[in-house]
Amino acid sequence: MTIQYTAWNPDVCTFPTCRLVYSWDDAFPTVHTLVAIERKCSVHSAIGDNNLYAAILEECGRKSYAFEIIRVELGRPKGDLSWYLWNYRLDRVLEIQIRELVVSAATKTRLRKQINDRFGQGKVVIK
Ligand SMILES: [Zn+2]
Repeated sequence: MTIQYTAWNPDVCTFPTCRLVYSWDDAFPTVHTLVAIERKCSVHSAIGDNNLYAAILEECGRKSYAFEIIRVELGRPKGDLSWYLWNYRLDRVLEIQIRELVVSAATKTRLRKQINDRFGQGKVVIK
């Protein structure tokens, strides 16, 4: 039961990234508490300190869940990171490009429906 501290440079940021510090008890390693905001990236600079952590967690979660929806639909193995490219636009829409795979229009339509049902229209774009 020791409190640990982790500095985090989220990959959803523009460079130079935000830099956050969170604490966690090694007895409960998945429970994180924001301790400090050391830097904000240009795209997150307009977000108030009280909302920044939640905003970044939402973007990271949206990215992870969207990847998982697509991975399962395409039957890719867990941990295979080779099939997509991604980026967050400045308006915080997540763009995912599926590459090196032939994906039918029907499959893309199914994926878009699942993703829109999960996140709302216009939050994730599949190219
Ligand atoms: Zn940021």
